[in-house]
Amino acid sequence: MKTVYFDNNATTRVADEVIEEIKPLFCELYGNPSSMHTFGGQIGRRIREAREQAAALLGCDASEIIFTSGGTESDNMAIKGALAAAPHKRKVITSRVEHPAVLAVCRELDNQGYTVVELSVDKQGRLDLAELEEHLDENTAVVTIMYANNETGTMFPIDRIAQMTAAKGVVFHTDAVQAVGKIPLNLSRSSIDLLSLSGHKLHAPKGVGILYIRKGTRLVPFMLGGHQEAGRRAGTENVPGIVGLGRACELAAAHLDEENTKVKRLRDRLEKAILKKCPDCRLNGDPANRLPNTCNISFEFVEGEAILLMLDKYGICASSGSACTSGSLEPSHVLRAMGVPFTAAHGSIRFSLSRYNTQEEVDYTIEKLPPIISKLRELSPFVVKAR
Ligand code: PLP
Repeated sequence: MKTVYFDNNATTRVADEVIEEIKPLFCELYGNPSSMHTFGGQIGRRIREAREQAAALLGCDASEIIFTSGGTESDNMAIKGALAAAPHKRKVITSRVEHPAVLAVCRELDNQGYTVVELSVDKQGRLDLAELEEHLDENTAVVTIMYANNETGTMFPIDRIAQMTAAKGVVFHTDAVQAVGKIPLNLSRSSIDLLSLSGHKLHAPKGVGILYIRKGTRLVPFMLGGHQEAGRRAGTENVPGIVGLGRACELAAAHLDEENTKVKRLRDRLEKAILKKCPDCRLNGDPANRLPNTCNISFEFVEGEAILLMLDKYGICASSGSACTSGSLEPSHVLRAMGVPFTAAHGSIRFSLSRYNTQEEVDYTIEKLPPIISKLRELSPFVVKAR
């Protein structure tokens, strides 16, 4: 059975061009870039090239790129590093719908006595900028707000937020793990100070990421050791990961138009058909400001996990908005923050596409999904109670 992969916000397949690029780095060009000899030196050149490729995608200077182990490390480094650089400021502002790589850090800071403000979102997952304005003050060390939500694809007005923080002299970090490669970015024209991205979300290998640090932004490093990454992130470089990420950034730039045409057209075709063919379902997220590849739909009165298991029988991979924690099914914190009703939040499914998906895969899913929903509703105790 063929796999139909609609879980690209979880991770992506590594592009063939990336694999070709990194293969020699395992057994031919395996030197340490910090070595004095020519063998190692040529690896240093490959890292410099990757930095240039990433900078071209982001519209920034190569010196503003720090390679990390992924989105989680970049988020941790940005928030903790900015706080350590401004020890007299004790306030952090974030949103209720961030990824755990940001929320867990903020909650730890809360336990340590920092004031942590979690901004709320409306029914479509949108932020209220007046609430942000109200909380921004001279005690605020850092504002950390994601570029696009991993569950719903909702995009926040990041450039506007960056202007607001810049006006107050507050450092602004954005977790752009889901946005990079899907929408155009030009950091040289924005006031964003810190931006995280992750290689495995844009067809590079897992275990590599970037923290963009705008020139002049003060950040205390938290990985101490050697002098790699200009002393800002110690540790021997993940050379294949970095070189692969550089190539993936180059490919992402070349495929950006395709994201907004082919991928979006496929996503829209899937979404429209599901909403039409399945009664009692609703779209989660902001239809006007959404990543072109993401669609999150709630099917009332059915369990998301049951839908996933039945899709899996047909080789269709998607993901649910619920996380199974300590034996109880907790609906996603993102959907809860948006006020999605319990019965809908439990039955939410995220489809996230990539440039490797085809119309045949979309049509196959459109054929298989509606009977799955009808069948599960026939078995559901919720339907009897709710209707
Ligand atoms: N931030 C967001 C929005 C994500 O979606 C993810 C991964 O799902 C991360 C951070 C973590 O990135 P990584 O898996 O590279 O640590």
